[in-house]
Amino acid sequence: MKFELIKPAYDADALAPVISRQTIELHHGKHLQGYVNNLNNLIQETEFENADLETIVKKSDGTVFNNAGQVLNHNLYFTQFSPDGCRQPSGKLSAAIDAVWGSFENFQKEFENAGVSLFGAGWVWLAEDENGKLSIVKEANAGNPLTKGLKPLLGFDVWEHAYYIDYQNRRADHLKELWKIIDWKVVEKRY
Ligand code: MN
Repeated sequence: MKFELIKPAYDADALAPVISRQTIELHHGKHLQGYVNNLNNLIQETEFENADLETIVKKSDGTVFNNAGQVLNHNLYFTQFSPDGCRQPSGKLSAAIDAVWGSFENFQKEFENAGVSLFGAGWVWLAEDENGKLSIVKEANAGNPLTKGLKPLLGFDVWEHAYYIDYQNRRADHLKELWKIIDWKVVEKRY
């Protein structure tokens, strides 16, 4: 087994009520574990056998890309949450957000709108280019901004498996609630 299921630093019920224990156990324990298992099986005896995750995401396509993308996406997703983290960006990340969107509140609104307007399954990312300029990137299915030469900093999962147990069809409500558990110290370290 080359890739392993990441272990978040919080308990399964620590993010409730924003994300319930039941959703964490299914999303992390079943969905992500499935992507990890699939990826490990798919890359055996291929050119990707000894490659790191980012390289596989950049260079693969088809089923390998789908599973590698989802492992990378969920590793970023589950590690950006904390029950007691910093709820506002600071320093140069805060300044970079203000430079593009005017304010943190306006950025949050635009980010939520991107998630609500994404048709079907996918991800919304805050990403930076090589100059540190930020943008909101919508990706379908297993997509990640890495394939566009951008670095992913923050990701909201808009696949129904991320919210259906807790919010049913109310994706907008779920996205709005997610800000309460984002740890901006983690996001700042990625920037
Ligand atoms: Mn997911």
